[in-house]
Amino acid sequence: MIMVSVASGKGGAGKTSIAAALAELLGPARVFADCDVDAANGAIALGAALGTREPYDAGPGFKIDEKACTGCGLCAKVCRFGAIKPAPDGSGYRIVPELCERCGACLDACPSKAVVTFEKQAGELFVSGTRLGIPLVHAELVPGEDTSGKLVRKVRDKAERIAGGDSIVVLDSPPGIGCPVIASISGCDLVLVVVEASASGIRDAARLVELVASMRRKAVAIVNKAGLDGAMDLRAREMIAKAGIPLAGEIPFDPALRSAEEAGKTWLSLDGDSGARAAKALRAVRGVISGLSRRETDSNPSKEQP
Ligand code: SF4
Ligand code: SF4
Repeated sequence: MIMVSVASGKGGAGKTSIAAALAELLGPARVFADCDVDAANGAIALGAALGTREPYDAGPGFKIDEKACTGCGLCAKVCRFGAIKPAPDGSGYRIVPELCERCGACLDACPSKAVVTFEKQAGELFVSGTRLGIPLVHAELVPGEDTSGKLVRKVRDKAERIAGGDSIVVLDSPPGIGCPVIASISGCDLVLVVVEASASGIRDAARLVELVASMRRKAVAIVNKAGLDGAMDLRAREMIAKAGIPLAGEIPFDPALRSAEEAGKTWLSLDGDSGARAAKALRAVRGVISGLSRRETDSNPSKEQP
């Protein structure tokens, strides 16, 4: 198996579109894992029909039984996240779910056993068929939930089980450089860094490149939305060269690329200069991938049916 993570640092850099086109180019033995569990768009890029679903349970939630609460305030003192506040009507204390990190300290601190746990579904995991015949693993985190790194790991594990030993898994990484991005890059054989040719795109990609280097992952880069500003194109190239990452190609900014997506096609289907340059850049990435050695699956070597 080979795992290729497509990441950009900045949202809106074109990462999902490039990941979808790369998955199409790589041939039949590939699985697409949409690791952007906060804003999953892989289903749109690949024209997915929603398939099987399973609940994602991130662990128990905590709440205060208002009838049992004496209002002593001990729980609020031990909560390091400021998630326990006095009830507005003065009837003891309450947990603010959005602030609760589920550490369980209040459970132990309460002398009245007024803090209780409850089962809490934090999201859903899906396996869907797509227009291109690429199995898609994707997920949705419930708004306000904060265990996105854990859910990314579940998406990856599921994709690996479906892929089996000989496949390539293309992971669409979330934006940023935080926990869910680390979860989507760790252990990958290659990180395709998509650098948007803009001031914010270059800055965010540079931070991502630092992260990739610290995780000792092999990387290759594509500059996207090139041609709007020559100075920005140059800065993007310089940043990539300084990081010692090979540049696979540059894809120009072209509204036709967006139109192709809205028509349910990847960028490979486009005629003209933009499509040709996208295909050329992605073929260069495919060349890097073909030089990687396959490895055994980490989680479960037996192939699961999508
Ligand atoms: S420690 Fe228990 S009894 Fe005291 S305020 Fe908190 S929930 Fe209520
Ligand atoms: S579980 Fe932890 S974070 Fe949540 S309210 Fe209790 S002490 Fe605070």
